[in-house]
Amino acid sequence: MATKDVEQPVRKQGMYEVVMEQFAHAADVMGLDPGVRKILSKTNTEIEVNFPVRLDNGKIEVFTGYRVQHNNALGPYKGGLRYHDTVDLDAARALAIWMTWKTALAGLPFGGAKGGIHINPKNYSKGELERITRRFTYALGDNIGPDLDIPAPDVNTNPQIMAWIADTFSSTKSPSTRFVNLHVVTGKPVGAGGLAGRDRATGFGVVANLKSWSKLTGQPLKGMRFLVQGFGNVGYWTAHFLIKEGATLIAVQDASATFKNEKGIDPEALQAYSDANGRNVKGFPGAQEIDPKEFWGLKCDILVPAALGNQITGDNAGAITAKVVAEGANGPTNIEGEAILKKKGVDIIPDILCNSGGVIGSYYEWLQNKRAEIWKIEQVLEMIQDKVDTSFGKVVAAAKEHKVDWRTGAYIVALRRLEDTYMDRGIFP
Ligand code: GLU
Repeated sequence: MATKDVEQPVRKQGMYEVVMEQFAHAADVMGLDPGVRKILSKTNTEIEVNFPVRLDNGKIEVFTGYRVQHNNALGPYKGGLRYHDTVDLDAARALAIWMTWKTALAGLPFGGAKGGIHINPKNYSKGELERITRRFTYALGDNIGPDLDIPAPDVNTNPQIMAWIADTFSSTKSPSTRFVNLHVVTGKPVGAGGLAGRDRATGFGVVANLKSWSKLTGQPLKGMRFLVQGFGNVGYWTAHFLIKEGATLIAVQDASATFKNEKGIDPEALQAYSDANGRNVKGFPGAQEIDPKEFWGLKCDILVPAALGNQITGDNAGAITAKVVAEGANGPTNIEGEAILKKKGVDIIPDILCNSGGVIGSYYEWLQNKRAEIWKIEQVLEMIQDKVDTSFGKVVAAAKEHKVDWRTGAYIVALRRLEDTYMDRGIFP
């Protein structure tokens, strides 16, 4: 007798599967060299560390941290550290791979890495977070370094955390080399070797891309309505710069709440409220709270996912009304979600292009530290704008040449650069 069909829970596609599928598609389209394809299909190094920290209550807790180094053909590994309870080896892997494409596309002398700690930072005091960060840095030891692997902020990490990493790393080295190690991390506070403008670099880059999109498609940003998912560094700065272009912020969603205001939400007031409320937007008086499920279907022109991966999926992509999705987050659109958006004719400015202003800013911070220079914010923003605009042009041209979407175009530009490097250099021995 046939066994009765049992309904299997549908396993959601993880970020790693998404990045590998995007990669395979682009590699097929461009005819990527099979050897290079094999190399890039694997991560070079995967580090998992378990380390103890004494909490404020005197008890010891053991934390798990990760650093995955995908590829360093173009330069030292580069990429953020996130503190979140979705951080695991698979997530770090996927995010590290996206960093390799991102730095290659931006024309930077960096490879790709990502890591973080499996933790909800809201459950810990500032003192605990400092001890956790310092002990994590110590556990990573010489697996990071200014010419080897350079972390930066990502989800739930910030300049303060970068300052603790830089200080811990340098303090474990000989005092005479202290300032040689300043650029072991980027995204530091300006007073601790940080770059003026690094704080706003990602959001600035998102809006630079939207301006290029607007010019290309002949649709002015002025008067457009936009939605932002995630009100961290990327969400806030994107809203800040987009409002300057004359667009209106209609709704915001974060982990704590979703709300809208048809007359427009003031990102400055929201930021002040969020800062005063442990980085939660719940209860913000300048808008009306709505059901989180309503968010995706709200009428808008621009949608900015600026939170976590796998947010735009088969479950909600059909409801999206935007003309353009500007991916401030890494991997916010899964394969199914993307197929639906494409069918609807929604433009997607892909993550590895759209949010590349952040790592471009990091490059200038690294360079500023290496050269012991100090640059003005105007110079920095101009340099970021220039690089983002160049990448946008290359992506559009590659997409046109291969008759593919912009994500695949972006992959082709990045992968060609990596392929050329391997072809020129050859493989040791
Ligand atoms: N975490 C950011 C990203 O995903 C910045 C990385 C960096 O600056 O190294 O691109």
